[in-house]
Amino acid sequence: MRFNRRTVLIAGAAGAAGVLLPPSPARAARLDAGVSAYPFPLTAVRLDAGPFADNAGRTQSYLRFLDADRLLHMFRVTAGLSSSATPCGGWESPTTELRGHSIGHVLSALAQAWASTGDATYRSKGDYLVAQLALCQRPNGFLSAFPESFIDRVETGQQVWAPYYTLHKIVQGLLDWHLLTGSAQALAVLQRKAAWVQARNSRLTHVQRQQMLRVEFGGIGETLFNLYQLTDDPVHLFTAQYFDHAQVLDPLAAGVDALAGFHANTQIPKAIAAIRGYHATGDTRYRDIAVNFWNFVVRQHSYAIGGNSNGEYFQAPNRIASELSDTTCECCNTYNMLKLTRQLFFTDPSRAAEFMDFYEKALYNHLLGAQNPNSAHGHHCYYVPLRAGGIKTYSNDYDNFTCCHGTGMETNTKFVDSIYFQVNTTLYVNLYIASTLIWSSQGVTIRQDTTYPESPSTRLTVTAGAGVLDVRIRIPSWTSGAQVRVNGVPTGTPAPGTYLSINRTWTTGDVVDVSLPMALTLEAAPDNPSVRAVRHGPIVLAGQFGTSNLSSLPALDPGTLTATGTPLEYTAGSVLLRPFYKTHGQRYSVYWDVTGTAPKEARYPFDETSGTVAADATGNGWNGALIGGVTRTAGRSGNAVLLNGANGYVSLPGGILAGVTAFTIATWLRIDAAASWTRVFDFGTGTGAYLFLTPRSSSGTARYAISTGGSGAEQRINAPAALPTGAWTHVAVTHTGDLGVLYVNGAEVARNTALTVRPSALPSTTQNWIGRSQYATDPYLTAAVDGFRIHSRALSAAEVAQLFSTGQ
Ligand SMILES: [Zn+2]
Repeated sequence: MRFNRRTVLIAGAAGAAGVLLPPSPARAARLDAGVSAYPFPLTAVRLDAGPFADNAGRTQSYLRFLDADRLLHMFRVTAGLSSSATPCGGWESPTTELRGHSIGHVLSALAQAWASTGDATYRSKGDYLVAQLALCQRPNGFLSAFPESFIDRVETGQQVWAPYYTLHKIVQGLLDWHLLTGSAQALAVLQRKAAWVQARNSRLTHVQRQQMLRVEFGGIGETLFNLYQLTDDPVHLFTAQYFDHAQVLDPLAAGVDALAGFHANTQIPKAIAAIRGYHATGDTRYRDIAVNFWNFVVRQHSYAIGGNSNGEYFQAPNRIASELSDTTCECCNTYNMLKLTRQLFFTDPSRAAEFMDFYEKALYNHLLGAQNPNSAHGHHCYYVPLRAGGIKTYSNDYDNFTCCHGTGMETNTKFVDSIYFQVNTTLYVNLYIASTLIWSSQGVTIRQDTTYPESPSTRLTVTAGAGVLDVRIRIPSWTSGAQVRVNGVPTGTPAPGTYLSINRTWTTGDVVDVSLPMALTLEAAPDNPSVRAVRHGPIVLAGQFGTSNLSSLPALDPGTLTATGTPLEYTAGSVLLRPFYKTHGQRYSVYWDVTGTAPKEARYPFDETSGTVAADATGNGWNGALIGGVTRTAGRSGNAVLLNGANGYVSLPGGILAGVTAFTIATWLRIDAAASWTRVFDFGTGTGAYLFLTPRSSSGTARYAISTGGSGAEQRINAPAALPTGAWTHVAVTHTGDLGVLYVNGAEVARNTALTVRPSALPSTTQNWIGRSQYATDPYLTAAVDGFRIHSRALSAAEVAQLFSTGQ
């Protein structure tokens, strides 16, 4: 967690500046090794109105509501002290072997709520818990709501739930309380307890310890590495290393995915401990373990919402469609994956954008929507079911207290911890969450105003201060045609999957506007490509099925997806799709059985700088090829292809519109020489069957035509004018049912309501060309072409207008 000297000094400066002030923030004795970026203290960032602030408010309300004496009851009973409090239920009941873990989550959450708000209610409740825990601590340092005999049992291989898991939550809560409030008592209790852990484990043999580590032990290794960084006491380092679990770490170090069959959330904290071990020691084996684990879990074990596990276990790699159940995606797993992702962001700036793309995906699609918005106390999911017809269920005030109820309290009190990161004068803007950053060391305050993801944009305003700063804006990999403007002036060429750097002198009043166009995409399950989840930009959409408990995946024809006009909402037939994070209180499906042929979505930004490949930015693999006289030039956004009018064209893969009943083809182009019968595009099998768009027919106007019987059988949309020359122009053709519409620069110019020939009536086309006609005597196009895109559905007029207005 947050232990490096730089962060701590900044936390001190924030306090001195009179912002929000936890007193006497702890100072770390050791600098982290191998770290290239740093978090801001929680005191430096404030959540502004939005869904994250709403979630935080509910959890804060719960933290104020909770009765400290009820949480302490079994600690007091175990210590032989009197307690008249009503025992808690659920996992905190007097007979549950995990009892006591929640007090650690509550301490961490109270510490975070105090740091974020400065509200003394949290401070006094946490101080009380720490003082009372101190009274329950045994002379040997043992502190728990269960007896020490549980440790005898885990050491000797007898049945017991997970005693070190519970103890980890308590020591982490004490550490967070110390770090965020400066409590000396919390550190003293923690150090006595760490000494007990050292004593207890040092008397075991290596073999005995490794056998014990087969039982879930949470992140106790992480906390001990962190305590070593804080205190520079080497005892904590070698105690942390007692918890290096060879059975799991050795394959990871060797780059082998042996995770199948292992309890998922037991393993994730081992990877977090490993990356903290790297930061504490510089041992690159630890780093490789953590990086390999992240790669395996994210790429081979994660669902479309960013969560992992079925029935709490990792399954064989790439099993997704075959592992949809009511017990998928335990919330703790994603809480821990985000902790790991954040540490890897600090570690490897070359993969920063990739790490934060995943962070955003899992944060929005899993955790933001795991809290019940209809509960004033932020009740939380345990699993998030991904079977068709699943429904979210939630915890309650006193009779649940699961692990996920606990980590939910932590998640919902620290949303500000990963919006911004910094190093020297560089600011990373990672997440588009309404918030205000007070960057004391640079003397600037920056406010982020946004309704993202409902709007695909955000605005940063320097509201106080001035200075030379390198502001780096994350451009997600899922976008295309992003635009960044500083005080209204476009800056740089934002490439997806990178950070756009704006290094300049900033002053009060400067404004950065970021536009991140979102497209509708389908994410296929690796084990069954017809099983797909629907995404709009980064946001997973779920079908809303009310009380219908589906018995199988619902069918979806992507061609029927229609935007409703409400942001992030579509219909498919009679089914409404809306963001999964907003889906509560009814049954849903995240995955669909996509009917007919595989959906055809392709997008060509033409942003390559060399070679003859035109990559399909959707990831669907429909890569095109540049043929003949094609060079590259500055585009509408990034680069464009420049067709020479003699022999240059772009060839797209065969079958790209095969079986499609509805579609959109849209592109930007700048026609550099007017000529009749050139082609913007022409997809066909020759002069018998094709569909094309020409900028100017022999009638002098633009025309879309489709035919299965040559020129005599063409059905057409005739525009009132030719496409303009010498200027960037946006054109789009949409076709659904019998309606075809031609748009120029975002506005409809012509339609045909009797367009009965659909691409599905054509044979699978093999000559799919941009800039070349099926007819050999027609001239080639002389033009720059950029942002060519194909959808297997008809975009609405509003969506086409948005493509034009946002420059996509
Ligand atoms: Zn859990």
